[in-house]
Order: sequence, then structure tokens, then C-alpha cells
Amino acid sequence: MNDRYSRQVLYKPIGVSGQNKIRKKHVLIIGCGALGTANAESLVRTGIGKLSIIDRDYVEASNLQRQQLFTEEDCLNKLPKVIAAKKHLQRINSSVLIESYIMDGTSTNIGPLLHDVDLVIDSTDNFDIRFIMNDLVHQYNIPMIFGSCVGSTGMSFTILPHETPCLQCLLDSTPVSGATCDSVGIINPTVQMVVAHQQAEVLKLLVEDYQSLRTKLVTFDLWNNLYHTIDMTRSKKDTCPTCGENPSYPNLTYDSQTKMEVLCGRNTVQIRGKREVNIEELAKQLSNIGTIHQNEFLISLEYEPYRVVIFKDGRVLIHGTDSMEKARNIYYQLVG
Ligand SMILES: [Zn+2]
Repeated sequence: MNDRYSRQVLYKPIGVSGQNKIRKKHVLIIGCGALGTANAESLVRTGIGKLSIIDRDYVEASNLQRQQLFTEEDCLNKLPKVIAAKKHLQRINSSVLIESYIMDGTSTNIGPLLHDVDLVIDSTDNFDIRFIMNDLVHQYNIPMIFGSCVGSTGMSFTILPHETPCLQCLLDSTPVSGATCDSVGIINPTVQMVVAHQQAEVLKLLVEDYQSLRTKLVTFDLWNNLYHTIDMTRSKKDTCPTCGENPSYPNLTYDSQTKMEVLCGRNTVQIRGKREVNIEELAKQLSNIGTIHQNEFLISLEYEPYRVVIFKDGRVLIHGTDSMEKARNIYYQLVG
């Protein structure tokens, strides 16, 4: 196995010294879906020293189309995603130390995992956790590679705490749509393209080639043949509560968390989302997946066996379950 990394070492910007650096680094991947599995496989093949992965879900049939580490057997066994991923990753490279965490990531449980992490890869599917990570990586001064994809569109940006704009600054100037993979779908090449952009940046950071980092936000639409890079330098705000001069890390406070409660005797879970909803836009997306009724105040969606009501202020009622876990999954699938 001596020549295991030979082709990568031959590549001049990496070389023997780069390979030695890669072997000493610890990367944390948040989310073990399409982006997470592809990022993890690439890192393990690259020879990363230690890899930690966090995810709360188990493998389902609809994952197999794009979540590249999972098999039909994992799905039949309903294995937690991080457990299935670790099993396959260790077969690819047994020398990598892999820590898998089956958990719903929050500011309190992720923070303690960050003390020896060199780099965070965002592979999540929702902005609640992304904003928590945005605060945490600034607090701990750890670079994070943001990535997101839906349909045939994707984007990626490299966040260097105290140098580049943070995710909040970025999204204030480049709003993203509320579309999710469960409402408008996703094709495989979109995932691969985002991961290619993330992994190139990951390699540069691992070998400490900071000068080669991409400073711009990259966005693309593979179906409509669009590719843009956007200079975000001016988006960074001195007053930003995350990356500004007096950070308060607003997403780490209890008040900022998305709140859920079971409504007693109604077989309903209520979720208080943090963001207002664009009723028109969301109704269009949700009409793909079930019958909807809408008015100017709310959308009601028949999502068998549930009925989901989404209010303009971001509040969501999920009728047909009293399980917070189930309701949370439905919420992120539909609202993102
Ligand atoms: Zn900021």
C-alpha cells in the first residue's frame, strides 16, 4: 500500500509535505446525506487523519439515488446514516480514524466536539443548523466550507472566520430560495459539482495553501448551463453579530432555536420557524408533492398521512403525528 497516495503526492501543490499534513488533520462533516457521503468518501480516499460525521437520520429508499455510500441492505436494516457510512468508509481506508455521531446537532452538543477540528464541511439541508455552525466556527475560529444544492442548482463558499464574510453576511446579499430536495427534487450531477468545489477548497486548506483558496461565491445551474462566481468582499459587515467587531453569536442562544411542541390531544406538533415564509413561492413548490389549499395567510398541504399547515410568519402545524422527531423531519423536508 506504499503507493496508495502516489498520484496525489505527484501533484505538485500537495507533494510529500502536503500528504503528511493531510494525515494529521481532523475534519468534521455536518450532515451525512448526498453532500456528506460524497465529501466523506473523497476525504477518506485522500488519506485524512481523522473524520467526524454528525447526522440524525437513518437510510431510506429515496436516499439511494444520490447518497453514494449507502446500499439497499443499509436501507432494509434502517441503519443510522453515520453508522452505515462509517462501515463503508472503513472498508475503503482502514487507517482513517472515524467518529460517527447519531445526533440532532445543536449549539450545545456540537460545540464540545470542535476543540481539535481543523476544518468543518457544511453538508446539511437546512439553515437552522447552518446558522448555528456559522456562529460556532467563528467562536472557535475554524474554517467552514458552505455548500448547498437543490434541483440542478448549487453553490459553495469558503468561510474563513475574521477574514471573509460569514454565512449571515453572504445570505443578506444573496438570498436563497426556500426550495428543498423534497419539494423540487435533485439530480446527481448537482451534488457532485458542489462536492467538487468543496473538496478542492478542503485540499487547499488541509495542505495550508491559503493563497490558492477561491475567494468568490460560486453558483451554478447545470440544467440551464449557468455558472457564476461572485465577489462577496463587500458583503462583510462590521456590525454583523457573527463576524463583526462585537460578536454576540445570536444563533447559539436558546431564544434563537426553532421551537417545537406537541399540542396535547390534537395529534399535532407545532413548530415555530424563525423565518417568514413566501407563501406564493412555497405554494408553487409544494404543489408538486401534494394537494394544497392556500390563502394569503397560510398554505395547507395534504401530505399523506399528514396534513401540514404553514403560516406566513413561519409557524407550522403538522397534523397526524405527536412525534417531534417525525414532525421535525417533515418540517425540514418541506420548508428547508
Ligand atoms: Zn457576518
